[in-house]
Amino acid sequence: MTDSPSSQREPIKPGSTIGIIGGGQLGRMTAVAAAELGYRVHVFTPEVDSPAEQVCDHATVATYDDQDAIETFGRSVDVVTFEFENVPAETVRHLSDLAPVRPSWECLAICQDRIREKRFCNDLGIETAPWKAVSNVEELTAAIATIGAPSILKTTRLGYDGKGQVRIKPDTDPADAWAELCGGQGDVAAILEGFVDFRMEVSVITARRPNGAMASFDVVENRHKDGILDVTIAPADISAELAEKARAIGQKMAEAMDLVGLLAVELFVTQDDHLLVNEMAPRPHNSGHWSQDGCKTSQFEQFVRAVADLPLGTPERHSDAVMLNLLGVDANLWEQQLADPENKLHLYGKAEPRAGRKMGHINRLYPKGSQPKGWD
Ligand code: AMP
Repeated sequence: MTDSPSSQREPIKPGSTIGIIGGGQLGRMTAVAAAELGYRVHVFTPEVDSPAEQVCDHATVATYDDQDAIETFGRSVDVVTFEFENVPAETVRHLSDLAPVRPSWECLAICQDRIREKRFCNDLGIETAPWKAVSNVEELTAAIATIGAPSILKTTRLGYDGKGQVRIKPDTDPADAWAELCGGQGDVAAILEGFVDFRMEVSVITARRPNGAMASFDVVENRHKDGILDVTIAPADISAELAEKARAIGQKMAEAMDLVGLLAVELFVTQDDHLLVNEMAPRPHNSGHWSQDGCKTSQFEQFVRAVADLPLGTPERHSDAVMLNLLGVDANLWEQQLADPENKLHLYGKAEPRAGRKMGHINRLYPKGSQPKGWD
């Protein structure tokens, strides 16, 4: 083992500064949790007046390829983490020379790219939907012949909330689908994925410390609208055995990539109760927001503890919970939402309520074991 900053094995003590790359709501809620544990937070983001900047100690507003700004940032913090994973690998590699980077750039590289992500799962014996890498219309035509239709064509990088995806139906012309995916930009790297007739979408979040200690949150059900998470139900209404399998998958993946921090894994539950990994994120996740109010330790506190190498807290669910995302102008209804005293409202401080933009969420708690059915 080298003695580079990234192999540091001492806890990052309260009073130190945690650097967060990205200034969105995940950074904001992480910064609040970090402050509760006595840390300072410095965010690095290209966005002016970002949700995270509003609540943290210091912000650097610069682009991710601004090497001077990255250098100054890396030297001014005690550890670096991420609230989103689409940061240039070069930036992260450079940061690793300046401070411990958790999770490592190797973890980010796997999670940034759908091909690497799926290969990583399959190499571990973890099932995914059938898939093929495609980089031009001829390869797409051949992949459709193997995988069939319906299927989904996805860009390998920078896809989120259902963006960068095209549905392939039996009568879809591959040339049209390819043109739609590429959007006039020339060929892109993509994968064709078999369409999964799932009975439920679930996710599991695993926290892991540098010494390998792990803790998993309960498995939750996620319901999407227009490709964007709408509601999370905690816990998912699945058998204890299946939930345990999902937790084991999350832990196996976190261990195999030697991840430090949080790993969120989204899975499909098939009609015959098989689990297929859809995608993963090496950071707090929208489907974990319920834990702020439903667990003894929230995903954000757990994230800070893992990254700072503190003992993990218990992720135990003390209440069942339902989380509703507030998109766009939904967040303008805060007065109405607060009129129900059971609603725990969380807003992200975003000024512009653009359609589909995540502006906040509401958690609603239920007695443990009552198994809520959805948002009512
Ligand atoms: P993703 O960005 O890959 O998480 O996709 C967004 C949403 O599209 C998922 O949460 C699913 O609801 C749906 N989806 C993605 N891939 C598939 C698939 N292979 N089969 C069926 N539905 C899918």
